Amino acid sequence: MSAQRDENLELIRRDGAFDVVVVGGGINGIGVFRELALQNLRVLLVERNDFCSGCSAAPSRMIHGGLRYLENGEFGLVRESLRERDALLTNAPHMVRPLPTTIPIWSVFSGLLNGAAGFLGLSSKPSSRGALPIKIGLSLYDWTTRKKRLLPKHSFRGARETLRRWPQLSPRLLFSATYYDAWISYPERLGVEMVIDTKRLAPESVALNYAQVERAGDGFVVVDGQSGDKIEVSTKVIVNATGAWLDESLDSLAAGEKRNEPFVSGTKGSHLILDCPPLLEALGGHMIFFENADGRVCIVFPYLGKVLAGSTDIRVKAAARVRCEPEEQDYILDALRRVFPGIGIAADQVVFSYSGIRPLPTSDQEFTGRITRSHFIHRVDGVVPQFCMVGGKWTTFRALAEQTADAVLAELGCDRVRDTLALPIGGGDGFSDVVDEFEAELVERYGIDPRRAAYLADAYGTRAEDVLRFCQQRDDDRPLDDTSRTTEAEIAFLAANEFAVSLEDVLLRRTPLSIRGDVSADIVVRTAEAMAGELGWSDERKEREIASFLRNLENYHGVPKDMLDRRSRERSLTCA
Ligand SMILES: Cc1cc2nc3c(=O)[nH]c(=O)nc-3n(C[C@H](O)[C@H](O)[C@H](O)COP(=O)(O)OP(=O)(O)OC[C@H]3O[C@@H](n4cnc5c(N)ncnc54)[C@H](O)[C@@H]3O)c2cc1C
Repeated sequence: MSAQRDENLELIRRDGAFDVVVVGGGINGIGVFRELALQNLRVLLVERNDFCSGCSAAPSRMIHGGLRYLENGEFGLVRESLRERDALLTNAPHMVRPLPTTIPIWSVFSGLLNGAAGFLGLSSKPSSRGALPIKIGLSLYDWTTRKKRLLPKHSFRGARETLRRWPQLSPRLLFSATYYDAWISYPERLGVEMVIDTKRLAPESVALNYAQVERAGDGFVVVDGQSGDKIEVSTKVIVNATGAWLDESLDSLAAGEKRNEPFVSGTKGSHLILDCPPLLEALGGHMIFFENADGRVCIVFPYLGKVLAGSTDIRVKAAARVRCEPEEQDYILDALRRVFPGIGIAADQVVFSYSGIRPLPTSDQEFTGRITRSHFIHRVDGVVPQFCMVGGKWTTFRALAEQTADAVLAELGCDRVRDTLALPIGGGDGFSDVVDEFEAELVERYGIDPRRAAYLADAYGTRAEDVLRFCQQRDDDRPLDDTSRTTEAEIAFLAANEFAVSLEDVLLRRTPLSIRGDVSADIVVRTAEAMAGELGWSDERKEREIASFLRNLENYHGVPKDMLDRRSRERSLTCA
């Protein structure tokens, strides 16, 4: 176990009295943990798996205003989302960056009537959107940010100019429009950075992954998922941030009145990461935001040197760990082939896939795309009052956390003492606008290779210096393999300082090794050895971690063991 986890458990043992317990450590739970701990309350956050391992690890990685919510007439949601997008661009510039987004357009007027009907609540069906409704939507988008504009206004162009810039797009298009939103490189890492920030600013509050809270008589216990130990705790209020699992966890914690209807109804969405250089080049640094034949909006954009494409939107009955099914993969690949007909896009270019369940508010909307992405807070009575966070988006986590915190503060009769709208996050604090300068400083100060400096600046922002200081005091600061920029010492840093408990935490969520398709059989073993050294794992535990990671990588991310073996073989040939 890391000293960091040990200290956290010790803090709870020493004093189990909290003002608020937050259950669920996705981005919403982490957001409200930070928000409340900064108001001088003592807060405990418990997450039963790893931080940001549920839906918060599965988004399209867009930080956006939600252009298509305008069709539903959700102006308030768009305004709030744009404000939060801009706040993230400013507070987390190391991970949230502008994303020029281009829409290929196939007609002039179509969708105008349907858009208006949707706006008036008279239609729930999607239809193809032509140049006119798109122009109206983009003008409204620009109008919303007119007072404080961080990103350029939209532009329109005809077919000839569009095909000159994107020659691989389908020649059937008539126009294209470009507008700006943002993307997030490492959503899981940003969540962990917020936990680290909060620990520094409010040391009496505690965030624990791999733990649960259970009722015990009139009180509660925290169950440490690693040792099974139970520690008594008390709280005045619970915030339930368990996302798609909200209805099941709510009843077990509250034992209050039974509800007739669940609060949450999920829809599943899947994404692919492709290693397809011609497609990456064809995107020209833009996201292409397009409609599939069924009217669903799909996206494709450059992601850490690969291509990210998605997503699907399928109703599910129960919350569970989900994967991209073969028919979803076919759907996404077919959609890409339709828009880029000249590029050979093949299934064997998929290096990783992921899937998650959107915890949306219960709705009887026939078309899942029309279910609101807005958020709600429900107060439920029980042993202590429970505030349930329902719905929302990654982009708007801070707004939902702020509103939930205000409801809790009112319940406890406390005043707000600190605002988070302009609070920098993790390595975004002091991250230079001129990234090249920061990378050059790392090269000069620590004598490292420029490629490693670029990787560390990209993944850690200004915290790259903490990583390098840690690594340079050790004798295992060597790459995991000849192609890797990640070193064994960096893995030890993550185990010691970033709450990584399992091999999966490091390979899936703290580093881009799996999502970029860099992980190989050799890297799995070396990473496990580096973690074992830092966390004192026995050989048996190390083997269990490797087996569990390989199983989950195949089952939930479409990467079988023979693909990892092949990568190891190819690399040893290249380096021989
Ligand atoms: C396919 C898809 C695409 C998306 N794209 C975008 C996008 O591009 N931009 C955007 O802004 N948003 C996007 N979203 C939405 C966004 O990802 C979610 O709104 C957000 O991640 C929800 O966070 P959460 O914390 O509520 O849920 P989660 O991240 O699921 O967190 C809930 C946590 O509670 C834990 N938990 C459950 N039960 C218990 C218990 N009893 N005790 C302790 N812990 C428990 C779970 O393990 C989980 O970690 C997308 C979502 C999906 C699925």
